[in-house]
Amino acid sequence: MSEYSSLPLALAAEQFAKLPGIGIKTAQRLAYHMLNLPAEEVEEFAENILKARRSVMLCKCCQNFTERELCSLCADDNRDRSVICVVESPKDVSAFERAGGFEGLYHVLHGLLSPMDGITAENLKIKELIARLSDVKEVIMATNPTVEGEATAMYIGRLIKPMGIKVTRLAYGLPAGSALEFADDVTLVKALENRNEL
Ligand SMILES: [Zn+2]
Repeated sequence: MSEYSSLPLALAAEQFAKLPGIGIKTAQRLAYHMLNLPAEEVEEFAENILKARRSVMLCKCCQNFTERELCSLCADDNRDRSVICVVESPKDVSAFERAGGFEGLYHVLHGLLSPMDGITAENLKIKELIARLSDVKEVIMATNPTVEGEATAMYIGRLIKPMGIKVTRLAYGLPAGSALEFADDVTLVKALENRNEL
């Protein structure tokens, strides 16, 4: 990055450029912007990122991000422990919670099966899901209606059904290929209410 007049500035821009969705130009803009901020503000910014990275871990039950051993949803005695809604990412838990109406617990897979990209069952939190099914009556496969989302739902459904657990799939009024996190609340609540047995 020889276009920079200072090496630390070039290194800062390089760090920004590593973030998803940030191109070289934007990284440059962010790096220059940072130099115009009061030093304390930049320090606070960096510290908060570091703090988030160091203190946030995976809930030992649902695998969602939390700063405690059990996340607030898993620790909530009012949630229905007999139903688990399986999602791809923490963003999907937020979407369902925002929409409201689901009283059960979640399980975050942290990805979807995608053999083409080398993502197999071992890369997802599937073992952890199987390990928490002893008192569970229903598992709702709430992965996105994409090829990977469907394949993952089918794969997990085949693992779980022989255990005598009901496996259902969201009824998608959602357009095929669209992402859950962008669905409006009504669509999401309907998709959950009208789920079908897999
Ligand atoms: Zn949890």
